[in-house]
Amino acid sequence: MDSLKDLEAGFRLIRSFERGHTKIEVDGVFVRIPEDDDSEGWEITKGEDGHRYAKIRVEDLLQDPATIRSARVSTGRDTIAVNEKAQALVNYLWKGAHVTPFEGGVMFRLKITTPIAYAQPLFRLFGSHNELSGRYTDNTERYYLPEKIRDTQARDILIQSENSAQIKYKELLEMGVANEMARFAHLYRFYTRFFMTISLRHMLEFVGISGLSTRHSETEFWDIQEIFGDIIRHWTPWAFKAFEAKPHQFNYLFVGDVLKEAREHGTEMPHLWSESVLDIGRIKLLNAFGNEGLMIERLDDFPNPLHGFGHGGMTFYIKMPIFVFRQWVRHRYGVFSEPTINYDRIVEKDEFYIPEVFRKQIGRVGNYTYVDMTIEESARARKMLREHINEAEANYRKLRNLNIPVEMAAMNLPYCFFIPVYWTVNLESLMNFFSLRVDGHAQAEIRKYAEIIWKMCSAEFPRYARIFSHYVYFGDQTIIKNFRPE
Ligand SMILES: Cc1cc2nc3c(=O)[nH]c(=O)nc-3n(C[C@H](O)[C@H](O)[C@H](O)COP(=O)(O)OP(=O)(O)OC[C@H]3O[C@@H](n4cnc5c(N)ncnc54)[C@H](O)[C@@H]3O)c2cc1C
Repeated sequence: MDSLKDLEAGFRLIRSFERGHTKIEVDGVFVRIPEDDDSEGWEITKGEDGHRYAKIRVEDLLQDPATIRSARVSTGRDTIAVNEKAQALVNYLWKGAHVTPFEGGVMFRLKITTPIAYAQPLFRLFGSHNELSGRYTDNTERYYLPEKIRDTQARDILIQSENSAQIKYKELLEMGVANEMARFAHLYRFYTRFFMTISLRHMLEFVGISGLSTRHSETEFWDIQEIFGDIIRHWTPWAFKAFEAKPHQFNYLFVGDVLKEAREHGTEMPHLWSESVLDIGRIKLLNAFGNEGLMIERLDDFPNPLHGFGHGGMTFYIKMPIFVFRQWVRHRYGVFSEPTINYDRIVEKDEFYIPEVFRKQIGRVGNYTYVDMTIEESARARKMLREHINEAEANYRKLRNLNIPVEMAAMNLPYCFFIPVYWTVNLESLMNFFSLRVDGHAQAEIRKYAEIIWKMCSAEFPRYARIFSHYVYFGDQTIIKNFRPE
């Protein structure tokens, strides 16, 4: 067992952890704030500005003591003192799956820079995210050129595709197309940047996943697991050792076999209602569940009456452009399943979103309005995007002929291909979704989907819909404000 002194002696403040494609900076770790009469050795000075300054000790930065403190409260103690038994306690907690001290005790705020294709799965982790918006910024940064692709012919294709995409993006902007639409020209490997605030427990859960063969088996995405591991090893060395001793690994090797068997039998997927959106997009209502009367009577719930609506919900199959899903996935209160994406089929069937009408963006960040471009302007923008997609499809085929794996080749597709998603969401969460996405501030494309979901939901649950539209909705659209059940 290490003593805390050993750890302190070896500790260097390392903030930045990276692999070729992804950089993660530890922007913050939660550190205890000293009390005025703190007796636990905090050195506190008064600055010239009158503020109190605390000298942070290494043991306050190292996050293992925070796990220990969270665990000790169970036995009525509240101390950050770390004795010789402390590491054994961390081990004991992890081994016995007493994992909440790793959740409430230690939070990391990470600043992540990574290609968009690798960012997407990270948004499925249990955390809080704040991302650079392609709606509010001009993104002219160079794209990621996958290191794993070594073939010179393939690399030439990637470089040429990027040059062409960057030009198309700028040309669309110069024509006056709004950022939120010009970005359709970007390739699915532009860099994005976001803060993720996540607990040690949820980082460990991600690091513990293994054997997943259905996604990213050929890309470099799983390197990010290693980066998370590096961060944990550095900032919470005892937790990392406990994890190594018992990795709580969810080994998903079984998934392939189970899927194969299930697919041999074929799954019947009847739907209750189906509507097309954005030309080739689709929403199918697969299931609506819950007793409306019971949910309404549970408005006497405490402290949040609306939780009663969590007893009912809906399951949808949705085919939507990737940029719409990137907005949708931010609604964490619900269950998403992303089936394996057949990119070869997407290219073969030409499943990309090319808007009929393009929009201009007028105003400043936080106060934009959007106006439709003229028929002639839209036709020009359409033609440009069409040619761009044709070129990208041809390049995708060339990359596949050079044996570049599907998901790697897909990183060279424009940011407007359609993907399938299953979504089960409860009626409480839908209230928030409708307020934010059936609203003039939401991008028009996701709004179209949200409006159809509202139509389906209000038909299935008219009493819920009436209560919501009258008392809860905070969006600005009359289709909800003026809702009257038939
Ligand atoms: C017009 C518009 C512009 C936007 N612009 C940006 C932008 O520039 N950058 C950006 O990053 N995002 C942006 N967003 C996304 C936005 O910040 C939210 O992430 C998104 O709308 C989901 O909202 P939510 O968090 O309320 O929903 P949910 O995640 O569904 O949360 C609903 C409830 O679930 C609970 N919950 C579930 N899981 C968690 C968890 N892990 N942690 C905490 N609470 C949880 C919370 O209590 C919350 O009340 C934008 C959204 C809109 C509508």
